[in-house]
Amino acid sequence: SFHKSKGQHILKNPQLVDSIVQKAGIKTTDTILEIGPGTGNLTKKLLEAGKAVIAVEVDPRMVLELQRRFQGTPLSNRLKVIKGDVLKTDLPYFDICVANIPYQISSPLTFKLLNHQPSFRCAIIMFQREFAMRLVAQPGDKVYCRLTVNTQLLARVSHLLKVGKNNFRSPPKVDSSVVRIEPRKPRIEVKQKEWDGFLRICFNRKNKTLGSIFRQKSVVTLLEKNYKTVQALKLSGQGLMEDNDNKMDFSRLGDNNEDLNMDVDDDDDGAEEEMEVEDGDVEGEPSEFKDKVLAVLKEGDFEEKRSSKLTLQEFLYLLSLFNKAGIHFS
Ligand code: SAM
Repeated sequence: SFHKSKGQHILKNPQLVDSIVQKAGIKTTDTILEIGPGTGNLTKKLLEAGKAVIAVEVDPRMVLELQRRFQGTPLSNRLKVIKGDVLKTDLPYFDICVANIPYQISSPLTFKLLNHQPSFRCAIIMFQREFAMRLVAQPGDKVYCRLTVNTQLLARVSHLLKVGKNNFRSPPKVDSSVVRIEPRKPRIEVKQKEWDGFLRICFNRKNKTLGSIFRQKSVVTLLEKNYKTVQALKLSGQGLMEDNDNKMDFSRLGDNNEDLNMDVDDDDDGAEEEMEVEDGDVEGEPSEFKDKVLAVLKEGDFEEKRSSKLTLQEFLYLLSLFNKAGIHFS
């Protein structure tokens, strides 16, 4: 019997396994990273397609079963098993990642992979359907969110396959999708804390206009405080940016509810918006600084726009306008 808590849903449909491997476009020279190999159904085909497989598995019973399965076969010397939690493991070099992962680690794993250097060619990963749809969403789609923008900053993402529950032994409660994630090369450089702070504010209410978000008292107060800090640092001659800010903290980039293995409730529908209305929504007093913030929005024609419809390029542009005006988010 399998552990629900470890997300152990074994792929039992061989055609599906074949089609995942085929869509991955594996080369015979590839070193493949597999996360959560389980009993090895996918591992076997990966070993046949590539040069080597490095499989990270947390469950010791699965590790044993996997090793037993390939023992004494010609495939065994091309398989390396790493025992442990993939989120706590230093990943070795790999060309491509192919995995049917436990869904509860979707978000931190995605950002761990995207933060891995040197970056790999692509990752072909099975996710819970709702999570997958968020990764591949486009501006204007209902599920377009901070996770989408953070992922697409780092990668091109596309939907490959819909996978029903019955393809698994001990079927999960949710449907699944296989997604292709291709890290951008070169990377789009952003200051990570700055970017994260900026997007959190923009997606605080993704369906409100940016004009109303940036009029909020709490937002204006925060930005003014940052502004004063930056000005003070400038005056004291401490260079503005000591660049220790570029590393991704992948645990913080996702939304709060996206990993839950459940039917994801859209956290942005009207009902919840109503519930969330608190101090955060209070419009600040007129002030010189507030005008400065709004002038930036006007300059880029962003006042009436909504985060739910902004492209990645527009977010990058808006942040650059704020920074040019000395307004910072971290
Ligand atoms: N790849 C197999 C297949 O498709 O049949 C099994 C997939 S099953 C959805 C997920 C696997 O990930 C399980 O074997 C589970 O023990 C393992 N796992 C769960 N959490 C993990 C973690 N944090 N690090 C590494 N492996 C993990």
